[in-house]
Order: sequence, then structure tokens, then C-alpha cells
Amino acid sequence: MPLKVIVSGAGVAGLSLAHWLARIGATPIVVERAPHVQTLGHYISLKGNGVEMVRRMGIFDACEARSAQLEEVRLYCAASGRLLRSEHTATLAKTLGGYILFRRADLQAALYDLSAEHTDIRFGVQIVEAHADTGHVEVTLSDGTTERADLLVGADGIHSAVRGLAFGPDFERPLGGYYITITQTLHHGLAPVVHSYLSTGRMVNLLPVTPDTASAVVYLGADVDAPPRNDAVAMRDYLLATCADFPDDVHNVLGSVGADDFVFSDAIAQIDMPRITRGRVALIGDAAHCPTFLSGMGSSLALQDAHMLAGSIARSPDDLDTSLARYEEVMAPIACRYRDSGVRAHAAFLTSSRVKARIRDLALRLTPERVFERGVRRFFDSERPLADLPST
Ligand SMILES: Cc1cc2nc3c(=O)[nH]c(=O)nc-3n(C[C@H](O)[C@H](O)[C@H](O)COP(=O)(O)OP(=O)(O)OC[C@H]3O[C@@H](n4cnc5c(N)ncnc54)[C@H](O)[C@@H]3O)c2cc1C
Repeated sequence: MPLKVIVSGAGVAGLSLAHWLARIGATPIVVERAPHVQTLGHYISLKGNGVEMVRRMGIFDACEARSAQLEEVRLYCAASGRLLRSEHTATLAKTLGGYILFRRADLQAALYDLSAEHTDIRFGVQIVEAHADTGHVEVTLSDGTTERADLLVGADGIHSAVRGLAFGPDFERPLGGYYITITQTLHHGLAPVVHSYLSTGRMVNLLPVTPDTASAVVYLGADVDAPPRNDAVAMRDYLLATCADFPDDVHNVLGSVGADDFVFSDAIAQIDMPRITRGRVALIGDAAHCPTFLSGMGSSLALQDAHMLAGSIARSPDDLDTSLARYEEVMAPIACRYRDSGVRAHAAFLTSSRVKARIRDLALRLTPERVFERGVRRFFDSERPLADLPST
């Protein structure tokens, strides 16, 4: 009998796991809370091992074809408009072992195309109960049906329901502040580079991805009020008020949000658990160890988790205990380093101290290129050889 795996969540982690499970001859069933296929999400960047993962899945070209061609990242002091530093994205790609800037929606679409044919994906359904006995797990779904499987995987994001059911509620660690992102159609007149404006306790990245489209990624520190939920117009007004002292280019993009636009926002939080597997339950992606948006490695980690879990099962198909232990042993330290980077980025970019913000800006201006490059490599954990991950 092929191994049967129930996966909660058809996001980045869940769909890539479904692909790899099918490749190793297992039978995945994916349950997704959203009512139908709907690929959503703004600009993210895959780096290093994340790029290697899409290469191994055979969707590198599809991802690359959707990537924004922004050749430079320019960092400015938001108050003075002074350019602090600029880096070529080609250099970043070389330093990090790969860099693709594209929409989360495009990644999800490519993963869906890859996995849907071989996977039973059930939309509009969630797991409401899970019970494990020796060697199996039985779940009750929100449509009243039950499923028995060899393994249950929580790939249902930072607010994972499976994590709550199998491990308990207390693993979310807020770092303080919020992450809000939009993609707008407008004539922005910006040069085609990433414009990153730094302030005290706030940072806004503008990505003019085409002459008529710009994305904004807004990071707010702990000192701001919580943003409104599920109301794009209220969010626009909140963003304009919170970023009032940013340059006009920022206001122009933020002010273009209309009632029907999709705004993605969440609190900046990490998931930190002592264990990410228990019995016949495993967690992957944000559900297991969300490193925050500030680490820049969330999607790359989700892809690596999926690959590693399937790879470990393929290595010892008759011994799931060993497979899960191996998965956890390899991925937990990688996630830990990404989380550490997230904490460091939070301290540097969202500090509420004007003095620390000034020192940061000065360091950005004066750090020699070689030292900066080494710091970037360390930050994104790119010094680790890709060979760490077995090719399935
Ligand atoms: C709709 C959406 C838009 C996003 N947009 C952005 C963005 O613009 N920028 C950015 O940096 N990050 C975004 N993210 C987060 C980013 O995708 C993740 O941080 C990262 O890719 C890790 O992926 P993941 O698969 O672990 O989690 P996610 O990508 O969050 O995927 C989790 C999946 O599980 C589903 N799910 C949640 N709860 C349940 C449940 N109880 N039962 C069944 N299914 C469930 C969700 O609908 C989703 O499909 C977005 C996430 C979502 C869900």
C-alpha cells in the first residue's frame, strides 16, 4: 500500500509537498480552507536554496519568466531622501546562489499546475479533529467526512490549525509591528529599481515592476496602532497616516489602493517550537517555524521543508519515525538561523530609537562592499552548501 498523507493547506509548503510525495509514490490528500483555487499574494523573493528548490521541481523557468526585472536595490533615508547604498540584483543573485523576485501568487500558481494533476485537493474544507493511534492518524473534516492516513502534515501557515490541534496553542512569538503589502496599477514614474526607504521604526520598499504597476511592502515597528482588517480603503488611510513623513512617491503608491484591491497584512511574528513533529504529525513551512517576513526566507524555507520531508520519507519508506526524526534534525537548525536573522532585521530596520536608526544609516553608507557582501551572505544563511538537501 502506498503511504497516505493528509496535508492541511494548499499554499507554498503544502503544494510543493504534494508534488514531492507524488514523485516518491506516496498518496497525498490536500485539504484547503479557501473555497476554490485562488492564487494570491504580492512580491516575494526566493533566494539561495529556495531557487534551487524550484529548479529541482522543474518550475525555474516558469518562476523566472514571471520575475520582476529590477536591476538594482537602492536604500534611502526616508527623511532626507539621501541615497545610503545601492546594490545590483545580479550581484545579490551571485552572492546568494540565486534570487528571483516575483509574486507569491505566481509561485503558488506554478506549484498548483505542477501538483494538481496528481493530487486529490479538496477546497473549502478544514480539519476539525485529529486522533493518532499506533502508526496511523484519523482526521475529521469540516464537511463531516473522516480520513485515515499514515501521516498528517500541517502546512496551513503561521496560524496553523493542525499545530493547535496536535501541539497546543502557545508557539506564536510576536516581534512587534506589522507587515502590509499591495500591488497597484498606476503611472508611478519611478526608475525600474527597488526603492527602499528607511525611517525610525518603519520601512517601505517600492517595487516598480512595470511602468504601470508598482508594489509596496510596508514594515511597521511596535510603536504603531494595529492596522484595520478586511477594509482596503481604511487600510489606505491608515498607511497614508502612518507613513505621512515618507516621500511623495510612497504616498502616490499607497494612496492608489481602492476598495477592491487585495491587501496582504499580518503581525510580524515567529513560530518557535521545541519540536515540529509528534507521533504521526509533522509541521512544515510557516506552521512549523515561521521566520517572519523580515528574514526574507519564509517561502524558501517552506520549499526546503517540503523537499526535505519527502526526501527523508523516500530514504526510509518503511520507517516513518526515522524519516520524521531526520526531517526535524536537518530543518530545525536551518529555521533557527533564519529566525535569528529575522530578529536581527527587526532590531536594525524597525528600531524605535532615532540614534540606532542613524547609526544603521551610517553603517549602510560606509560599510565596504566586501564586508557588506559577507554580511548579506551570513544574513541569508547562504554559506551553507546546497548539498545539505538530498535530491529526491
Ligand atoms: C493568501 C495569502 C497571501 C500571502 N501573500 C503574501 C505576500 O504578499 N507577501 C509575503 O511575503 N507573504 C505572503 N503570504 C505568506 C507566505 O506565502 C508564507 O509566509 C510563506 O510562503 C510560507 O508558506 P506556507 O505554505 O508555509 O504558508 P502560506 O503560504 O501562508 O499557506 C498556508 C495555506 O494554508 C491554508 N490554510 C490556512 N489555514 C487553514 C486551515 N485551517 N485548513 C486548511 N487550510 C488552511 C491557507 O489558505 C494557505 O493556502 C501569503 C499567504 C497567504 C495564505
